[in-house]
Amino acid sequence: MTSKVRVRFAPSPTGPLHIGGLRTALYNYLFAKKNGGDFILRIEDTDQKRFVEGAEEYIIEALNWSGIPFDEGPGKDKGFGPYHQSARKEIYKTYVNQLLDSGQAYYAFDTAEELAEIRNEFEKEGKTFSYNWETREKLNNSLHLSEEEVKQRLEKGEKYVIRFMPPRNEELILEDIVRGKIKVNTDVIDDKVLYKSDGLPTYHMANIIDDHLMEITHVIRGEEWLPSLGLHVLLYKALNWKTPQFAHLPLILKPTGKGKLSKRDGDKLGFPVFPLEWKDPKTGEIASGYRESGYFPEAVINMLVLLGWNPGKGSEQEIFNLEELIEQFSLEKVSKAGARFDFDKTKWFQHHYMQQTSDAFLTKEFMKILAEKEINTSADYVEKVVKSIKERANFLSDFWDLSSFYFQAPQEFDKKSAKKAWKTDTAEIMKEVKTVIAEIEDFKQNNLEEKVKTWIKSQEIGFGKVMSPLRLCLVGKMMGPDIFEIMEMIGKEDTLNRIDFAIQTLA
Ligand code: GLU
Repeated sequence: MTSKVRVRFAPSPTGPLHIGGLRTALYNYLFAKKNGGDFILRIEDTDQKRFVEGAEEYIIEALNWSGIPFDEGPGKDKGFGPYHQSARKEIYKTYVNQLLDSGQAYYAFDTAEELAEIRNEFEKEGKTFSYNWETREKLNNSLHLSEEEVKQRLEKGEKYVIRFMPPRNEELILEDIVRGKIKVNTDVIDDKVLYKSDGLPTYHMANIIDDHLMEITHVIRGEEWLPSLGLHVLLYKALNWKTPQFAHLPLILKPTGKGKLSKRDGDKLGFPVFPLEWKDPKTGEIASGYRESGYFPEAVINMLVLLGWNPGKGSEQEIFNLEELIEQFSLEKVSKAGARFDFDKTKWFQHHYMQQTSDAFLTKEFMKILAEKEINTSADYVEKVVKSIKERANFLSDFWDLSSFYFQAPQEFDKKSAKKAWKTDTAEIMKEVKTVIAEIEDFKQNNLEEKVKTWIKSQEIGFGKVMSPLRLCLVGKMMGPDIFEIMEMIGKEDTLNRIDFAIQTLA
C-alpha cells in the first residue's frame, strides 16, 4: 500500500494562534500540497481547564485568512473523525487498556500530597524526583498490589492515573527530518501519565493514538515537542504501530535573537504576534493582529515561511507566492537554528505586495474609505489617485494621508514648512506665477512643467523660491508627488483657488 501523505496541525484551543503556530500550520500545508497529500486540522482539547471560548473559531479563521485552509477536520469529516479529542474518549480507553494488559502501563494511586512530600524529600537531599524505574517500586501503584486489590480500589472510586512504563536501559535512535539522528537511553524517560480517572487521556496518549488512527504519515511540529519524541516512539512500539516520520521546526526568536518571540515582545516593540486581532473573552483585553493592522495575508505568509526555511544555496529569491512555495518547499531545507523575527522585513514584504495589488482592487477599497468621509468622486479619478500614491503606501490606511489634497484644498498650512518656504517676497511671486498658470490652456503635467519652468528661468529666480511655496499652496505641507501632476489632477480652477487662499492666509 503506498500511503498518501497526510499531515496534521493539532493546536490546543487555549487562546489565539501565535504566528509561530501559524508557521507550523503553513509548513504542514506546504508539505501536504507539494506531495499531493492532505492537510488535517485536529483540535487537541483534552485539557479542559485550559479551554478558551472562541479559540477554535479563531484558529480556523486564521488558516482561512492566510490562504491555507485545511482539507479535513471539524466540519469536513473524511472518515477519520471526530476531529476533536474531547469527542474521542472511548477510542483512547481501548488502547490504554491494551497497554495495561500487556504490562506496559500501570495504575498509580499516589495523591498530589504524597507526591509533593516525596519531591520535598528529594530536594532536601539536593536531588530531583522523577517517577521512573528507580522510584516506581516504592510508590503507591499497582506494580506491587494484587489484581484483587487494584480492582477493589477502582471499584471504591479511588482516584488514579495510568502511567507508562518504558523499557529498561535501551538505546533508542530517533530520526528527525530536520535534526537527523538523535540518541536517547530509555532510562531517562520517566513514567508519564497517559490517562486520568476523569476518563481523559493526556496529550501524549491522545496525540499518538490519533496520529496512528488518522493515518498521519509526517508529524511536523514545533521544537518544544522534541523532548517528547522518545516517549512517543516508545508508545508506538508498545502498541505495535509503525511510527510516522517526524520533523521538529526551529523556534522563532525575538528580534534580538535571544529567546523565544513572545506576545510581550510585540507589545513592547509595537508589532502583532497574532495573525488576527484577538479579544480575550475573560479580560476583554485586545491583542493586535496582522489582518486588522492592514497587512495582506500574502505578506504575512511570505515573511513567515522564511523564518526557518530557505530555498537553498544559489537562490536569492525572497518573494514567493503560495504556488511557488508549494513547488519549492522541502523539509530538508528547514534549518535547525532558531529564526530571528524581523519586523522591518515584514513591512518590506507588505510594501512589495501593496505594489503588486491591482489598482482596480485598491480603488474599490479606497472608495469605501472615501465614502465614510463623505467624499464622492468618480472611480476614474480615484484610480488616478491610487496610481499616483501607491508607491509610497504600505497600507490602505495610508492612502488618505498620502492623498487628501487630491480631494480637498488645504484648510491650513504646516507651520514649519510655511516658515521655511514662505518669505516676504513669496506672495508677489505667487501672484505672478498664478497669472502664468491661468493662461495655460493645455492643462497637462508636462505642458505645465515646461511653461512654469520656462517662466522661472526667464525671471532669473531660483526654482526653490517658486516650487516650494507652490507645493505649500497645493498640499498645505512639504509632501506629495510632483506638483504639476497634482495641478493636472485637480484642474485649473482648483489650482488657482488654492494659490489665492494661500496668499490670503499666509500674508
Ligand atoms: N496540541 C499540541 C500543541 O498545541 C500539538 C503538538 C503536536 O503537534 O504534536 O502544540
